[in-house]
Amino acid sequence: MLKESGQHLVIYNTLSRKKEDFEPINPPNVGMYVCGPTVYSDVHLGNCRTFISFDLIYRYLLHLGYKVRYVRNITDAGHLEGDNDEGEDKFAKKAKLEQLEPMEIVQKYTLGFHEILRIFNTLPPSIEPTATGHIVEQIEMIKEILASGYAYEINGTVYFDVEKYSKDHDYGILTNRKLEDLLEGTRELGGQDEKRGRLDFALWIKAKPETLMKWPSPWGWGFPGWHIECSAMSTKYLGTTFDIHGGGMDLQATHHTNEIAQSEACNNAAPAKYWVHTNMLTVNGARMSKTAGNGFLPKELFTGDHPLLERGYSPMTVRFFMAQSHYRSTLDFSNEALQAAEKGYKKLMESIARLQKLEPSDTSSVNIAEIRGNCYAAMNDDFNSPVLISHLFEAVRIINSVADKKESLTATDIELLKSLMQTFVFDVLGLLDESDANAGGEVINGLMELILDIRKSARENKDWTTSDKIRDKLKAAGVEIKDTKDGVEWRV
Ligand code: AMP
Ligand code: ZN
Repeated sequence: MLKESGQHLVIYNTLSRKKEDFEPINPPNVGMYVCGPTVYSDVHLGNCRTFISFDLIYRYLLHLGYKVRYVRNITDAGHLEGDNDEGEDKFAKKAKLEQLEPMEIVQKYTLGFHEILRIFNTLPPSIEPTATGHIVEQIEMIKEILASGYAYEINGTVYFDVEKYSKDHDYGILTNRKLEDLLEGTRELGGQDEKRGRLDFALWIKAKPETLMKWPSPWGWGFPGWHIECSAMSTKYLGTTFDIHGGGMDLQATHHTNEIAQSEACNNAAPAKYWVHTNMLTVNGARMSKTAGNGFLPKELFTGDHPLLERGYSPMTVRFFMAQSHYRSTLDFSNEALQAAEKGYKKLMESIARLQKLEPSDTSSVNIAEIRGNCYAAMNDDFNSPVLISHLFEAVRIINSVADKKESLTATDIELLKSLMQTFVFDVLGLLDESDANAGGEVINGLMELILDIRKSARENKDWTTSDKIRDKLKAAGVEIKDTKDGVEWRV
């Protein structure tokens, strides 16, 4: 099955807290579910890190010959501001702020998300289901959890009964914590609380008169809680137990813990064999997040228009920067790290261009098959992209020294090296050659479209400072823009 690698893929499972042999339930099929974005605002670079990490995993599984059904949801309902099923609905709040319908907010930020991921050259998932498109499935699942006795209804809201569930199951299994410890970390219930237990969470929430996004249910008008959408949609498209469930590490303690409880209560089965969690992108050591306000938008990174940025960086520099750290390690953002990544990325691309022109010899002085084996070994070791990159740089060293006639390669080995670089640099790491007229042209066109869109909105809002700044910065980068009656023209 593991095409060409001749080795066994080992994957780290959060649940077992150790690396294990990766044996999907039903090879060659792999079901993978990844928690997608909450589309009430732009995705920041931290979100992108998680989606780019899973793109690498998806690409490598495809390369190995697995038939992967990759489901990544869009959260477009049921997200309240507070962690405790309280506070204003994030979509409704944004809709009021931007004077749009909640579904216009959803559409706007879903399109923005797709555009950014396209610029980062990620592959689209096989299915991208939305919470609002699966209300019926969520209601059905809640009915079954109620029937199993692990949930209760109070005044139109349905809660999951964590203490009752814990009597028969290990609720803290994913984070390896005991119920008592979890209870200790939660505030006492007050007189206003209607739920029975401190850890109980809402499966369905009764609508208030002002609630904009609501649906009829057996418990009256309301909307689903935050966690049930992923359980309902993963079960629908991947079955009761599937292979890999992923998301950022921040989802482990609550969202994924509750997903496991919901699936166990409804289906009597654990939802996933493997839990894969990506670590956080940090800025000066603090997690990048929408609420902390330290999140750069990818477009700010490309244009350099942010106080923390010395200048702009290209999408492939950023993708390479991310691949240089393992998905389970934190990755701290800094200008120095991005500049080093830019150098590394350029060096890699230049050597691939040199590789096309290498002259073959009668004998090889280096063993390319060994480097190839090392590349597979790195990726088979829990998708270890930084180690893979170190082996690719060994290939870069060889290419340069063969070009400088210090070492030699046969025609067969040159072909092997070409195929190795194609496989790992382009197919698996998902990099594009930005200097290549076709690939680069596509990326630059996408970027220019994005930048001119921002400028257009700035002008519509009479924000002349931003619009002038964009024009000046583009000019400094060698791009001239001209406003015509048919729109904006640009040229390098
Ligand atoms: P959200 O739109 O906030 O629900 O997040 C979408 C995805 O991005 C989730 O899988 C999160 O775990 C992940 N995520 C959020 N912040 C970060 C970060 N700073 N670094 C990496 N992943 C993140
Ligand atoms: Zn989820």
